[in-house]
Amino acid sequence: MAGRRPLIAGNWKMNGFKADGIALARDVARGAGGLSCEFVVCPPATLLALVAPALAGSRVGLGGQDCHAKATGAHTGDISAAMLADLGCSHVIVGHSERRADHGEDDATVNAKARAAQAAGLTAIVCVGESEAERDSGRTLDVVGRQVEGSLPAGATDANTVVAYEPVWAIGTGRTPTPAQIQEVHDHIRRTVARCRGQAAADGMRLLYGGSVKPGNAAEILALADVDGALVGGASLVAADFLAIGKTCP
Ligand code: PEP
Repeated sequence: MAGRRPLIAGNWKMNGFKADGIALARDVARGAGGLSCEFVVCPPATLLALVAPALAGSRVGLGGQDCHAKATGAHTGDISAAMLADLGCSHVIVGHSERRADHGEDDATVNAKARAAQAAGLTAIVCVGESEAERDSGRTLDVVGRQVEGSLPAGATDANTVVAYEPVWAIGTGRTPTPAQIQEVHDHIRRTVARCRGQAAADGMRLLYGGSVKPGNAAEILALADVDGALVGGASLVAADFLAIGKTCP
């Protein structure tokens, strides 16, 4: 962990209506009070303005799930990083594997989005991760290393960027890599960041693990030397589970 403050980020994905979203945010804000790690919740865009007041004055930050690479303009249905910042967001997820798959986003797109996030003063949570076929054929480190190199903008620092390693095959499946496999990939990501963006950025940058993190497996994962927190999907929809994951932070 080496001085890096653990970050537990919740990705609500396309879940939540007004009443339950506000209630979930309030419960997380209330429960996060006594905990030492940093929390961020990333509700769907429709709930950002409603959740912001529920988090106000708490230790829980607000994040978007995606942003456009451009600051303004004719991009129907999209949201800019500056709009997220205007709503009180501190973070935005870019390059989640569901966006890479559903919207055909490649590393260059993710890089441009991360750059836009940084220009708007947001911390970009840049997601990378191999498919099951890539792992089975022994290409995990190559694939993830290339994604990190391509997705992190030149100006990425430990202050404006977090990397989330999310094996595609572990998301929402209840399956996780072994702790040794997670540590191996995180170590490789940190070495790649050092090579591409400098040692200082690599030393300070928080690397999250994501993919079926639950209260029952969080302690083992979060104790790994190069794991600095978690990006949590399903378990972030239940305040008690999300907070329980935070409680396991070393
Ligand atoms: C995610 O979608 O970022 C994620 C990690 O999901 P889950 O925790 O449900 O696997």
